[in-house]
Amino acid sequence: MTSDSRLDEGRPDSNGDGAMLPKVSLLGVDQTSLTALLEETGVSAAQTSMRARQIRHWIYHRGAQSFDAMTTLPSALRGSLDKQYVVDRPTIVEEQRSTDGTSKWLLRYGDGQDVEMVHIPDVERGALCVSSQVGCSLACTFCHTGTMPLVRNLSTGDILAQILVARDRLGEWPTPKGQRKLSHIVMMGMGEPLLNYENVKQALLIAMDPEGLAFSKRKITLSTSGIVPKIEQCGRELGVNLAISLHAVRDDLRDELVPINRKWNIKTLMDACRAYPSGDRWVTFEYVMLDGVNDSDAEARELVRLLRGLPAKVNLIPFNPWPDAGYRCSSPERIKAFARIVERGGYPSPVRTPRGRDILAACGQLKTASERKRRRALEPA
Ligand code: SAH
Ligand code: SF4
Repeated sequence: MTSDSRLDEGRPDSNGDGAMLPKVSLLGVDQTSLTALLEETGVSAAQTSMRARQIRHWIYHRGAQSFDAMTTLPSALRGSLDKQYVVDRPTIVEEQRSTDGTSKWLLRYGDGQDVEMVHIPDVERGALCVSSQVGCSLACTFCHTGTMPLVRNLSTGDILAQILVARDRLGEWPTPKGQRKLSHIVMMGMGEPLLNYENVKQALLIAMDPEGLAFSKRKITLSTSGIVPKIEQCGRELGVNLAISLHAVRDDLRDELVPINRKWNIKTLMDACRAYPSGDRWVTFEYVMLDGVNDSDAEARELVRLLRGLPAKVNLIPFNPWPDAGYRCSSPERIKAFARIVERGGYPSPVRTPRGRDILAACGQLKTASERKRRRALEPA
C-alpha cells in the first residue's frame, strides 16, 4: 500500500461522528510506545512486549510493508492493526542510477512533500545520504537546498522510511549478517539535522538499536553547519560521528557562505568540536572548494592553525555546480595544492571524488527538476 492510498481508507473517528481518520504509521515508534499501543488495541498485558518485539523484527529486520506479511502474529491481531495503522513507505517518484553506481531517489510522503536520498556504493560498503527536513532554513549561499524555503521537519518515521526504502531497493532484507550494501548512514541530505534534533535523535536511536536497524554508531555520521548547543547534546545522547560544514576559516567569509555563523562563530564552533566526545575518532571538517573564494594557500595554512590540538580530518569537497549558483569549483591543481598544505600540517585531507555527476547529484537538484516538470504539466499548453 502506498502512503497516498492510506488516506482513502482510514479508521472511524473516535468522536464517533463517522468521519474517517487517516491511518497512523508505526515506523519510528519505539518498543515502549508500541507496547502501550498494543495494549490499547486489546492485546493482553502478558503479551504486549513480545508482540511489540515481533512487530519491530518484521519492520526493521524483515522489511515487512504490511501487517499481512507478519505471519508470526495471530491473524486477528494483524486484522485489527491493519484497521488503524500502516508500516508502508513513501512513494518513489524518481529513481536515477549513475554510471558509477550511485543511485538517487526522490521520495514523496503522504502529504505530497518530496525529499532526496542518495546511495553511494564503494568497495565492500555503501553509504546512504539521508535527509532531515523538506528544504532548509539556513540559506548557505553555495547550497542548492539552501535556495528552498523550509517546508517542514521530517518525522522520525519519515527519516527511518528513507533507510527502509533504500534497503527495499538494494534487496537487503532480511538484514544481511556480514557485508551490507547499505553499511553507513550519513545525515547529509536535505536540511539541517540539528534543527530537527528530536526526530533525528529518535530515528538514529532506532537505527542503532540492535532490535532496530542495528547500525553501529561508528557507522553513522551527522553533518551540521554548526548549531552549537545541539552539538554537545548530540555527543552526549547519540555519540555518532560528527562532521562540521566549515567551508571558511575567517568569520567575515563564513558569515557570508554559512550565515548561521553570525549566531555561532568559528571560535564557538571549534570549542564545541573540542568538547565533542569522539573518543579515538576524528571530527570531520567539510570544506567545499570554491574558486577564488576560500581556496588560497593562506586559507589552507589558517585551517591547519584552527584545527591544532583537535583529532580531525578534512574532507575537501569539489563544489557541485547548479544553475545560477554564482560559484565555480576550484581547479584540480588548486585543490591538490590546498590538500598538500593541510596534509603537511598533520591532517588527512582526502578530496571527495564527485559521484553521480551525471544524475544531478548536487543535493536538491533532483527535487527542483521534478518540481519544474510538475509545474510544466500544470501549465496550459
Ligand atoms: N545541513 C547539513 C547537512 C546537509 S549538507 C550541513 O550543512 O552540514 C551536506 C554537505 O554538503 C555540507 O557539507 C554542505 O555544505 C555540502 N554542500 C551543499 N551544497 C554543496 C554543493 N553544491 N557542492 C558541494 N558541497 C555542497
Ligand atoms: Fe542547509 Fe546544510 Fe545546505 Fe546550509 S549546506 S543550506 S545548512 S542543507
